[in-house]
Amino acid sequence: AKHLDLWQVSKTYQSAQGPVEAVSDVTMSIEEGDFVSILGPSGCGKSTLMMMLAGLESITDGVVVERGRQVTGPREDVGLIFQDATLLPWLSVLDNVLFPVKILKKPRNEYLRRAHDLLAMVGLSKFENHRPSQLSGGMRQRVSICRALILDPPLLMMDEPFSALDAITRDEMNLALLDIWQKNPKTGVFITHSIREAVLLSDRVLVMGGRPSKVVCDIKIPFGRP
Ligand code: ADP
Ligand code: ADP
Repeated sequence: AKHLDLWQVSKTYQSAQGPVEAVSDVTMSIEEGDFVSILGPSGCGKSTLMMMLAGLESITDGVVVERGRQVTGPREDVGLIFQDATLLPWLSVLDNVLFPVKILKKPRNEYLRRAHDLLAMVGLSKFENHRPSQLSGGMRQRVSICRALILDPPLLMMDEPFSALDAITRDEMNLALLDIWQKNPKTGVFITHSIREAVLLSDRVLVMGGRPSKVVCDIKIPFGRP
């Protein structure tokens, strides 16, 4: 089944230098359970496209449909991971993971077990009561992945989630992501500058580019994930 449908989606920013056409006329579908990587040079509109899919950036033109319904704003069923782990420094690791639960006023008790399990999965059980400042960059990013997964969102969007990490941690995170997908497949949108990572993790690779920027290439990876 289709999870997301984009119909002639465009974005033009207004800046002091005049209008910037960041994304031009993208029409495509993303299937339920697909892991889609987005590649392309800096400034080609990858983040803008992802933020429009997540409802965090307004759309200048076009329509985004999620499971048959037109969507406009931010939604609970979208998990987000960014390049830098934006953890709250005054909260413990555990409370950072549970932060979406608190914001959405859901019962903490029902999610505590899942928070413990997620932190165990990324090897951070011993650090639940630490503050973010006591962790390395890679560990903080693992916490932000747990936070994105705590509500078990059917749609996970990641904007260069591993680019601030060293090569070894990055490989570990790739394996962790594969593991998450094996245990609980979901729809993924993954921005990366690494072709290797895109091919390793995804079912499909989109390449953006050109002026104004569009999706110029759309490749299915037939052998899929291991
Ligand atoms: P990246 O290549 O890592 O996506 P960018 O430089 O394209 O980084 O954008 C980084 C952030 O700065 C984005 O959140 C974007 O909204 C903002 N940004 C980028 N270009 C401009 C601009 N010309 N004016 C205002 N904000 C901008
Ligand atoms: P990418 O993620 O591929 O690096 P972005 O989506 O961040 O690309 O940016 C696409 C284009 O839009 C760039 O030219 C960037 O400078 C511009 N841009 C991004 N955010 C803003 C903003 N808030 N205001 C003005 N221009 C922006």
